[in-house]
Amino acid sequence: MNMDIRDYYGETKWCDHCREYVHFLMSVNRSYCVHCGNPVRLFSKEDSRRFNADVQKKKWRAV
Ligand SMILES: [Zn+2]
Repeated sequence: MNMDIRDYYGETKWCDHCREYVHFLMSVNRSYCVHCGNPVRLFSKEDSRRFNADVQKKKWRAV
């Protein structure tokens, strides 16, 4: 059994239509929500903003 955090995040992506993290179908370039069929993304807007802010902070600290 190998259930680490990376596997967990790999299982769901954010769906703007369902407004929650959902399981998805993988195609060549995009992933699609299993519930509504709309494209999904890795993070919600809020999460991606937080993620970018963290990256910025690290960048500044490294300089
Ligand atoms: Zn959906």
